[in-house]
Order: sequence, then C-alpha cells, then structure tokens
Amino acid sequence: DAFVVKVARAKALNAFLVETPNHALAAAKDADAARAAGEVLKPLAGVPIGMKDLFCTAGVPTTAGSDILAGFTPTYDSTISQNLWDAGAGMLGKLNMDQFAMGSSNETSAFGNVISPWRRSGGSNADLAPGGSSGGSAVAVSARLCPGATGTDTGGSIRQPAAFTGISGIKPTYGRCSRWGTIAFASSLDQAGPMARDVRDCAIMLAAMAGFDAKDATSLKLDVPKWEHGLSSNLNGLRVGIPKEYRIDGTPEEIDALWQRGIDWLRDAGAEIVDVSLPHTKYALPAYYIIAPAEASSNLARYDGVRYGLRDLPEGAGLQDMYAATRADGFGEEVKRRIMIGTYVLSAGFYDAYFTQASKIRTLIARDFERAFEQCDVILTPTAPSAAFALGEKSDDPLAMYMNDVFTVPSSLAGLPAMSVPGGLDKHGLPLGLHLIGRPLDEQGVLNAGLAIE
Ligand code: GLN
Repeated sequence: DAFVVKVARAKALNAFLVETPNHALAAAKDADAARAAGEVLKPLAGVPIGMKDLFCTAGVPTTAGSDILAGFTPTYDSTISQNLWDAGAGMLGKLNMDQFAMGSSNETSAFGNVISPWRRSGGSNADLAPGGSSGGSAVAVSARLCPGATGTDTGGSIRQPAAFTGISGIKPTYGRCSRWGTIAFASSLDQAGPMARDVRDCAIMLAAMAGFDAKDATSLKLDVPKWEHGLSSNLNGLRVGIPKEYRIDGTPEEIDALWQRGIDWLRDAGAEIVDVSLPHTKYALPAYYIIAPAEASSNLARYDGVRYGLRDLPEGAGLQDMYAATRADGFGEEVKRRIMIGTYVLSAGFYDAYFTQASKIRTLIARDFERAFEQCDVILTPTAPSAAFALGEKSDDPLAMYMNDVFTVPSSLAGLPAMSVPGGLDKHGLPLGLHLIGRPLDEQGVLNAGLAIE
C-alpha cells in the first residue's frame, strides 16, 4: 500500500510524459548478462535514466512539450540518446518540459505543470515551480525517480532547474554534445547535458553523452576527456573569480549569503579568490532574448502541419489556411510570443537595430570572459536570483520570468561550460544553487570546483 501511495505521489508530480519501463528493463538484462559472462561492464550498464522530451527517441513519441508534435514518433534516436544506450543506459521514460524549451518554470508545457517535490516550510504551502525548461528532468532526479536524466540548456535550462530542486547539472562547452536529433530551439546556444544527484554522476553521464558527431556541423572534433578520473576537490593553486557585475540591486540577502558561503568553501579547498569584472553583463539578457527568439522563429518554421505531428485541415481550407490553423492550434502562447519577437527582430527594417546589435553584444560578452579568465580559472556566482517560486507566481509576467536567467545567460552566449551544484537551503528550507563557469573546454575545472562545494 505504501508503494502504491508513493507511485501515486510520483505521478502527481507530472514529470513523465511517457513511461518506457521495457527499455530500461532491457538495458538491465543486458547488464546482468554481461556481468554473468564476466565481461567488463559499460560505464552506464543497466542504469535507468529519464530523457527530456526534446530528444528524438526511436519508436517513442517525442513532443518537445508541445501539442504541435502530437502523434510524432521519431524513427531514429538522437545522437545523445544513442550514445547513452551505447554506454549501457536504459530509458525509464520521456520527461515533461517547457514547450520547445522556452521557459523557466515548466509552466509553458502543453501537458501541465511539473510540480517540485520540495515544499516551503513556514509561510505559504503552495506548489513550487521546478524551474525550467528541464523541469521534468530536475524533478525526476530530485524526487529519486531516476538517478540521472538528460537536460538541454540554451540559456540556463539545465542549471536553473537543478538549483531549484537541489541537484547538480552541467552544460558543457558549446559543441561538446551533438545537437543531431535534438529538437532545435536556438541552434547557436543549445547544448545537452546531464542532471544528476552529484558531481561524479554528472561527470560519468556527460562522458557518455559527449563526443564528435559528423552529423552536427558545430560538433567539436575532440576526444572526450576522462572527467571522472580527473575529479579532485583539492583546489590548491586555482584562482576563482568573483564578478562584481553579478551583484545586482534587489538580490535577496540569502542569495548574497549563499554566494559568500560558496566563496568560503572554495577558499577552504585551497582556492585563491580574486575580483574580476564582466562589464557587459547587463546587456546579456536583452541580447539573449533577441538572439534566442530569432533563431527559434527560423527553427520552428518547419512545423507546418505537413511534415510532423498535428495537422488542422478545416473544411474547404487551402494550404495557407492549413498552415495557419495548425500553428495557431499547436503552438502555445510563449512559443508564439518568441516567434513574433524573432521574426520582428529579423525583419528587413529592424534587423540591424536588433539582431546585429545583439550579435555584437554577444561578442563583447565573450571577450569579457576571455579577459576575466586571464586573472582566474573558474568563476563563481549564484545560479538564480531566488529559490523556487510558486507555480503561477510569474506566469503572467514574461519579463519577471526572463529575469530568472540573469546569471546563466551570459555563459550561454559565450558558449562556456557551466554547472549548478547545491549550495545549501534558504530560510524556508528550499535548495539554492551555486554556479561555476569555466574556460572553453575546461569542464574539468568546473566539475572540480563543484566537487569542492558539494
Ligand atoms: N529560460 C530561458 C528561456 O526561456 C532558457 C531556456 C533554455 O535554456 N532552454 O529561453
């Protein structure tokens, strides 16, 4: 009976869109057979993981959290999912997410909110947002429904939900993980990464996911480092940068306290703390909310009712009517908002004023990081400006929602590896995350600093 209640509670969190227990079971059986035959086990032999529903999975419906992909079942696996199966993992199911990965609370999903397993102690007892867009992944791991899950991160979608739910998650350097077969949001920013209970699990899972893929033109032709073997929480000689521009007015006291705790922990682990400056930080969020919608408006043009999923064909309708009806019905409000912003900033009269300007800012932000990394090896900041907020609290205010990404977006624009690790609890007992940003390709530095915090 206790088990039944637990299952019912787990289902109420709404993390899984589709369950695929047989897939996980087959991997477990393969692992057993390999063990019985005395073979060397694969790195993820038999490990049951959850897949964000942005990854195409052969024979398993894939929705990107949107009605417009209703009825779409890919005939192939994404490179990321295939890499995980090749490493021995099996799939427990597909995880709920913000529609097309646009959102910071999971409320833009067409399949209902994901609910955080965490509760505020004292004060309001409202259901809390798990963060987003990889909210289903964060909740599946946080609620102990699976030991690890895949996420994707365009502007913070691995790191912010990890912070909200007390788990770890890393976005690798842009190009480490293949984007092939992952439904595109903003192609110059999208990166897959693992979400897991701790830093070591993230290192193991990331190694299975990463690697060169000829099918993705931006894939880096580099070997995958042995991150797990390089793990060390001894930070002697490491210089940790604290960017002064991330101290923004109105940040709650407990976020400052969190940051200070992180500084102390890293210093205790042997690191030297240095002040650095990232002068263009305040332009990152506006630049991101031009570049990401611009790329999205182009990527989402393919959902036309002809090729995938939903098709609305009103009586006597022509082709244009079919396009319009399908897109009007299939896309959610936030997705439409992004498509409209995106087409606007790319339109002939406004391209230079918006898209070109935003692209220039992006370059300046990348240069800020290059200069800062002359003085330090890793940068430490809070992951998000607050702990998890209540469901519904920000859903009518897109700008308040976008503000959640203020600390995660700059490193996304610069393509840098970045990770969130649990950094303690706030006064209501809710998890807070600390955020580590590394030089290009220095996932190891980020993981090691994360290990020292954890
Ligand atoms: N919250 C951000 C957005 O809505 C980031 C999303 C993401 O990283 N996929 O665009």
